[in-house]
Amino acid sequence: MKPCILRTINKGSKYPSFTIGSRKDGSRKRVSAHRYILEKKLGRAILPGMQALHKCNNRACIEEDHLYEGSPLDNVHDSIRVGSHMTFGRTTQDRKKSDRTGNQNRSLSKQ
Ligand SMILES: [Zn+2]
Repeated sequence: MKPCILRTINKGSKYPSFTIGSRKDGSRKRVSAHRYILEKKLGRAILPGMQALHKCNNRACIEEDHLYEGSPLDNVHDSIRVGSHMTFGRTTQDRKKSDRTGNQNRSLSKQ
């Protein structure tokens, strides 16, 4: 699986967000980054009652391969599965590795 692409989550929100549209024509608005990415990948809007869910269980992740459309019930099952999986070390190691890569990318982009 590809490494996670992590975005900063603003205070007070659960997920990273983007600002899209233009201030000129009034289409400017804030959208949840992971929903926006998934809708682009699907080529359509997320269906009513469905959510943009993470395979990697990482809310800050906007890697399109890690996002899928699912029901809120899938989300609950997913957390349980990933949660128990995480206790077996390997995934935690991989996460640390991708966290370090993310930090390097961030400091590079500042220069
Ligand atoms: Zn991810």
